[in-house]
Amino acid sequence: EPGSNSAEATAQELCRAFRKHWLQTDSAVQLSGCLSSSKQRLVLKEEIPRELESSLNLAEEIKFISKLRGSSGWAPPRSQIIFNIHPSVKRDAVVAAQNFTCVGCGTPIESSKRLRYCDYLGKYFCDCCHSYAQSSIPARILLKWDFKKYYVCNFSKHLLDSIWQHPIFNVSCINKALYTKSKEMDRVREVQEQLFHLKKLLKTCRFGESVLKEFEQVPSHLTEELHLFSLDDLVKIKRGQLLPLLKDILKSSTSHVDGCELCQAKGFICEFCQSADLLFPYQIAKCKRCTECKTCFHKSCFKSGGCPKCLRIAARRTLSETPSLVPP
Ligand SMILES: [Zn+2]
Ligand SMILES: [Zn+2]
Ligand SMILES: [Zn+2]
Ligand SMILES: [Zn+2]
Repeated sequence: EPGSNSAEATAQELCRAFRKHWLQTDSAVQLSGCLSSSKQRLVLKEEIPRELESSLNLAEEIKFISKLRGSSGWAPPRSQIIFNIHPSVKRDAVVAAQNFTCVGCGTPIESSKRLRYCDYLGKYFCDCCHSYAQSSIPARILLKWDFKKYYVCNFSKHLLDSIWQHPIFNVSCINKALYTKSKEMDRVREVQEQLFHLKKLLKTCRFGESVLKEFEQVPSHLTEELHLFSLDDLVKIKRGQLLPLLKDILKSSTSHVDGCELCQAKGFICEFCQSADLLFPYQIAKCKRCTECKTCFHKSCFKSGGCPKCLRIAARRTLSETPSLVPP
């Protein structure tokens, strides 16, 4: 019985569908850029919550689902993350496309006026399957930064509630422009990037424990991954609840690093200017980090010719590969 699915089962199915869709190389065009880097792929893979992994045999379940979908012309709605906003189409046209049945239960409907619209699925439902529950819609948040609540069917409400806390939305993949559209998002990203580097540094410090505790005020993905958010995170960003927390953590972290001998010992001296000003990767405004060897330089000092350390390493390698001039 599809109607009796628990929230957990729904989430499980969703995550599998999500994994399948997102991790396939031939998936949606909008994602192709993201999936081309193996690092990104790994992030997505790891972000699928462990607790949602099914203990059921997947093949069995697929058989079950395909049986449910049957051949009667009606199939229960699929658990899926919808990334587009449904265009407004005339009610009669949509209802006709649904074969004049409720999308949730397949019940034939005499009068289309009795059907209720679900903004998440873009379909109409009977009053058993739609109780005028409301929810923000992921696509509207991610594409329009619109957090208004819309009427959704019970199935969608259930689904959206079950994924609400899970960090499965990669903003740089889905809609990079959100960082330009929303000042809040841009500020969050900036602080996040610094916290990302700081957390790594603090984890290597013997005296870092108490500052690291402060990171626990926010979900760990926010300081360990960039661009990855749950719907809950996005709502908190919009409400202005997340940025102050992140800024507090940033303040404590930088003041630790400034006053900690162990952390200071891990700073870099810019090879170009040799000044005593120590550089750390989290100083994103002034620090340029070599992607290869991870050495830090002043942004203003760095020359386009490349990283001097990498050049040295390359020179040494050519030297050792050159056959000896001394005859054997
Ligand atoms: Zn129904
Ligand atoms: Zn330290
Ligand atoms: Zn410098
Ligand atoms: Zn380098």
